[in-house]
Amino acid sequence: MIGGAVFAGAEPLQVSALHPLMADLARQVGGARVEVHDLAGDGGNPHRFEPRPTDMKRMQASAVVLACGKNLEPYLGRLKSGLSGVTVIEVGRTIPSLTVGKDAVCPGCSSHGEHAEHGAGLLDPHWWHGVDNMRRAARVVAKAFAEKDPAGEAYFMEHANAYGRRMDDLKRWAAGELGKIPRAQRILVTAHNAFGYFAREFGFEVIAVAGLNQEQNTTPQEQAKTLEAVKKSGVRAVFPEPSTSGKVLDSLASTLGVRLGTPLIADGNGTGKDAGFEAMIRHNVTSITQALTAP
Ligand SMILES: [Zn+2]
Repeated sequence: MIGGAVFAGAEPLQVSALHPLMADLARQVGGARVEVHDLAGDGGNPHRFEPRPTDMKRMQASAVVLACGKNLEPYLGRLKSGLSGVTVIEVGRTIPSLTVGKDAVCPGCSSHGEHAEHGAGLLDPHWWHGVDNMRRAARVVAKAFAEKDPAGEAYFMEHANAYGRRMDDLKRWAAGELGKIPRAQRILVTAHNAFGYFAREFGFEVIAVAGLNQEQNTTPQEQAKTLEAVKKSGVRAVFPEPSTSGKVLDSLASTLGVRLGTPLIADGNGTGKDAGFEAMIRHNVTSITQALTAP
């Protein structure tokens, strides 16, 4: 632990998180001064999560609740009015947003607004795929904790800075790995449209089979369009997710004769050795590099 035994005796700050990666971030920044409650749980799907009465109780007993923001949690307004004296932080609020369509992450769409189902014109909530974004987010979290625990300010900032340095190393490693992929192959064909921020940071194009959340189904016309886009791109691999049935990607891969990569973790819901942000990035970068550099 950084700073040694600076925390002695007092109750740890109670923190609840609505997303597994916000829980991870809270632990990284808060160290021994916080107790973190991961409400969506290990492997939980943040698109599908909605607080249950027991979660509301847990949050009411917390000093800080961490949400992702960028409209990931449509219930946030109700949640805030249901809690009193609890600070709800939308960690991603100040992080620059990508807009689907405008920032070229609209899957298989030739014009803006063509696929409302794909979320064209909507904020892409998946900001947690940017390594730089997570570095920023660590400082947001440190400030929020320091407001509730002023004596811990230096401790939290020190942790956030150390985390930032680890993010620099992680980004350097990721860029080095992904740099092995031939330029023409830097295309991510994925199940749901979760990788816009990752693609922006590491110079990839995105073709997603479904929309911004995993529940959005696509029409046969859209699937035909995606197939055409993937074929035209000449990319040699496509990437399922562990949590989706992957039928569309399976058939796409076999129709086009491209390989299926190791499933990517899209929503921070990796478990075991893949839990947490750093492990998610390492897992995804390794999968992408392996599949797109293989002959
Ligand atoms: Zn997602």
